[in-house]
Amino acid sequence: MTLDPNPNSPALGALTYLAPPACIGVLGGGQLARMLVQAAQSMGYNTAVLDPDPSCPASGVAEHFLCCDYTQEDGLKALSLLATRVTTEFENVPAQTLERLAHGLGVSPSGASVRVAQDRVLEKTSIQRSGLPVAPFCVIETQDDLALAPQELFPGILKTARLGYDGKGQVVVNTAQDLPAAYAQLQASQRTPALTCVLEKKLPLWAECSVILARTPTGHCVHLPIQINQHHHGILFSSTVFPGWVEPSLEEELQHAAQTLAQSIDYVGVLCVEFFVLEGTKTSATSGHQDSPFHWVVNEMAPRPHNSGHHSLNSCSTSQFELQLRVLVGLPLTPVIQHSHCVSLNLLGDLWLDPSPIRGQESPEPIEPDWSRVLALPGTHLHLYGKHEARRARKMGHLNITGHTPQDVQSTVTLCLALLGLDGLGLGVSGPLLKAGKPLLDNALSPT
Ligand code: ADP
Ligand code: MG
Repeated sequence: MTLDPNPNSPALGALTYLAPPACIGVLGGGQLARMLVQAAQSMGYNTAVLDPDPSCPASGVAEHFLCCDYTQEDGLKALSLLATRVTTEFENVPAQTLERLAHGLGVSPSGASVRVAQDRVLEKTSIQRSGLPVAPFCVIETQDDLALAPQELFPGILKTARLGYDGKGQVVVNTAQDLPAAYAQLQASQRTPALTCVLEKKLPLWAECSVILARTPTGHCVHLPIQINQHHHGILFSSTVFPGWVEPSLEEELQHAAQTLAQSIDYVGVLCVEFFVLEGTKTSATSGHQDSPFHWVVNEMAPRPHNSGHHSLNSCSTSQFELQLRVLVGLPLTPVIQHSHCVSLNLLGDLWLDPSPIRGQESPEPIEPDWSRVLALPGTHLHLYGKHEARRARKMGHLNITGHTPQDVQSTVTLCLALLGLDGLGLGVSGPLLKAGKPLLDNALSPT
C-alpha cells in the first residue's frame, strides 16, 4: 500500500511540536479513543477516528469518523489525508497498519511495540530480556507440548497468546491431567486447532498494582501515581490511588521497573505495566532487584492508556489521555501531581440489568440507573462512554470518587456501592477493595 503523505506531515516518525488545530488520528473508536478525543479537543486539536463499528463510543465525538476495517486501504488513505499524527486505542489493531501509516505520518506507539503487546509469548520474553521477572510459564503450541509442561507450573492458568482481555481466553488448570481438556476448550472457543497458548503458574497474589507512564522519543518519562487494582471475575473492578498506601520503596521499585521496560523496548507513548505483588517468601526469580525485600512479577503491559488510569481524569494535574496527546504532538511532559485521593469504580452493564436502589427491581430490559442519587454524594465524577446497549460484563463507564483523605473517599465509596447494589457482593469498604492498601503499609510486604 502506498499512502500519499499529508503535506503537513513531519519527517518520517518525527514527533516534533505540532500546533492546534492540527488533526490527530486514532485507530479504534472505543472508550479510550473517546476520552483521548475529548482531551485533544479541549486543547484545540481536531480528531479523526477509524473503526469498523459505526456506533462505537468515539464515532459521535470526533470531528471525522471513518467507518472501515483497520486494513482497508481507502480508509487508511483517507485517515492519512486528514491526520498528521496517529495513535491507537487498543493493541489488537494490526501492527502492520501502524507501520504503513508511519511512512507518512508521526505514529506513536510504534507498530513494533504494539506487536510485542499483542502476543503473550513475545511480551513475556521482552519483559525477561529487559531483566524483569515474570510468572513461571511455558509455551503450548501443539498437542505434543501438553505432555512436556513442567509439573511446577500446576496449578496454573492456560492463556491464549493472542486476543485475550478481561480474563477472556483463560482457563484455570489444576493438574497436568486437566491440561489437554483445557487446551481443547480454548481451541474450540477460538475456533482453531492451531492455537498458541502460555501456561502460567497460578501465583498467590497479595496485591495487583499498575504503573502508567508516558515516554517521549528522547526517553523522557513521567508517570501517574501507582494504582492498586482489584479484579472481579477477571475484570478490573476498582483502582485505588491513595498516596502512601503502597509502601513508598515498593512504589519506587515498580515505577523504576516500568521505566526499565519502556526503555528496553524503546517505547514512545503511554504505557501501562501491570504487576503482581506476591505473598510468601521472596525468591530470586520474583524481584527485579537482588536486595529488594519485595517480591513481584510483571504480569503484562498495554501500549496505551489503561482502565486503571481513569482516576487521573479527576485526581491528577494531567490525565493519562492528555499524556498520550502530549507525546503525540510533541508537547513537553511535566511531572504529574496528584491533587486528590481517589477510587475509580468500573461501571459494567450488569448495573443496567440487576436490581439496585438506583435502578429498581429486575427487569428483562436494561434500565438506566438514576445517577442523580450517586452524584448527590460529594466527590463523585461520572464518566459514561455512550454505549447504546448495556450487556453483562460490558464496560459502560466509570465512577471516580475523590476526597481530601482516604477516609473521605472510603465513606463515599461505601455509599456508592450500596446505591449501585454492589455491597452484597463483598466489594464494599470491608472487602478487598480498600483493605488492599492496609497490609501494604502494615506488615506482609514490609521489610522484615
Ligand atoms: P487480561 O489480558 O484478561 O487482563 P491477565 O493475564 O491480566 O489477562 O489476567 C486477568 C486477571 O487474572 C489478573 O488481573 C489476575 O487477577 C488474574 N491472573 C492472571 N494470571 C494470573 C496468575 N499467573 N496467577 C494468579 N492470578 C492471575
Ligand atoms: Mg490484565
